[in-house]
Amino acid sequence: MDNRLKEMLIRQLQDELDHAKKINEEEIAAQIRRIGFHCLMCGRCCRRESGDNRVALMPEEIRRIQVGMNLRMEDVAEPLNIEAESPAEECSLHERSGMIDEDGNIHTFGWMLHRKENRDCCFIPDERNNNKCGIYELRPLMCSTYPFYMEELKLMTSECEGLGKKTGMVQSRELAHMVLERYLCELKDTILTYENYSSFTTGPKGKESAVSDMKQGYLNYIVHNSEGKCRTTRNIRTAVYRLIYNE
Ligand code: SF4
Repeated sequence: MDNRLKEMLIRQLQDELDHAKKINEEEIAAQIRRIGFHCLMCGRCCRRESGDNRVALMPEEIRRIQVGMNLRMEDVAEPLNIEAESPAEECSLHERSGMIDEDGNIHTFGWMLHRKENRDCCFIPDERNNNKCGIYELRPLMCSTYPFYMEELKLMTSECEGLGKKTGMVQSRELAHMVLERYLCELKDTILTYENYSSFTTGPKGKESAVSDMKQGYLNYIVHNSEGKCRTTRNIRTAVYRLIYNE
């Protein structure tokens, strides 16, 4: 990404943020009541078998979970990665996206909740009849607002069996408040991520190096985020991460 593109993206996001600040919370609450929602506690949004269950995280959310659960950063978060069926596919998708630098590091933007080897969220129990979130009080905004989110100033919904169920006044207002809070936080976080971003050099040697790392069972990532960048290594057989540096 060159500087002109970076500045253009930041201007667009800043403009969206200015408009987002003026959105009427009551109007969003009324839309939520019209759509209707009641959580069925089915856990489908937390499990991979039901579809894309990646949960994007902002640094503040990672810290809240880390402190509340006394966990290491790499036990809570992993690079917000492309959704792939296997590590080999993941590497080949990265190869095509031009996100591998000349040292073989895969560059990604932002963090997501760490997932188990089966790619279910690491805080959902393994037993299929138990969907109790292990960090319910600390869970990220993306979880507490599901299935609602804002995009280009509009309220959107994700697939969910709880949609269409009756929603009360209090619940709709609470949800509207969180959905808008999440929207503003995400826009600010993305602006900061672009501001901190510094470009990297790609080249055929980097791709060869990433493929060779993968054959040895690991992948190296550099995560660009709102607080700088971070390097982490993932053991692709066990989905275990090791944090190397955070700057
Ligand atoms: S943090 Fe909790 S609510 Fe969010 S995906 Fe994981 S188990 Fe589900």
